[in-house]
Amino acid sequence: MREVFSRTFYYVNTAINCSNLLQLIAVLEKILGADILVFMEKEQIKGHLILLMAPSGSGKKKVMEGLGKVADDIYFAKTYTNRERREGVEENSRYTFISREDFEEAIDKGELIEWAVFSGNYYGTPRSELIVPLSEGRIVMKEMELQGVQQIKKLIPEENITVIYIDAGSWENLRKRILARAPMSEEHLALRKERYEEESKFKDEADVVIDNHNGKLDVAQSTFRKVVEEIINKHHD
Ligand code: 5GP
Repeated sequence: MREVFSRTFYYVNTAINCSNLLQLIAVLEKILGADILVFMEKEQIKGHLILLMAPSGSGKKKVMEGLGKVADDIYFAKTYTNRERREGVEENSRYTFISREDFEEAIDKGELIEWAVFSGNYYGTPRSELIVPLSEGRIVMKEMELQGVQQIKKLIPEENITVIYIDAGSWENLRKRILARAPMSEEHLALRKERYEEESKFKDEADVVIDNHNGKLDVAQSTFRKVVEEIINKHHD
């Protein structure tokens, strides 16, 4: 009982000190155990969200390059992460690199629509990065790992979301690609393998699977482009 009182006191006190609406809603959600923002946001979704799931090293970046001009019609949503930048090979302009403390503050303030710990680091999507363009009726693309996809699927209506999985083939195949990209410790590699096995299982739940097996990049690129074009055309109908 005492614990319930002190927790309630903590939340009420925090609610009083909230500096913005999002933070207040995040605290109220904790008190009520309900997703208030979900009700508010579902109503606003007019666009379409394409979530890209791909095990690390599966060639996602190259497959996406195949979009060509189609990419002009898409909003690429940003990621917050506290992982280290990859020396020399960091190419991901959609990442905002922040400290662990800043990430945890963003969680507490309710600024992230989803977040996950992957290979020991935080990854998450700022609410505004999805809700604003989707409420404007835009096509939004975002890469995401398994836990994030599962959270988002609960929030966005089924007809407004397509999950695309890029299949890199066997673990051996993928392992070679990962190591060719940048050196990685055995410990991290073991974590990647664990995750790869988990993400491979999720493949069955994806709406579309694009095969990007060795030597077939051009096929993967054109299949991906066609799938995305179809989504865009259907959306504009
Ligand atoms: P990497 O460190 O290789 O850039 O990314 C690791 C994993 O995090 C990848 O599967 C990538 O798709 C995923 N990821 C990237 N951004 C986000 C995000 O905003 N949320 C979640 N849940 N996963 C993300």
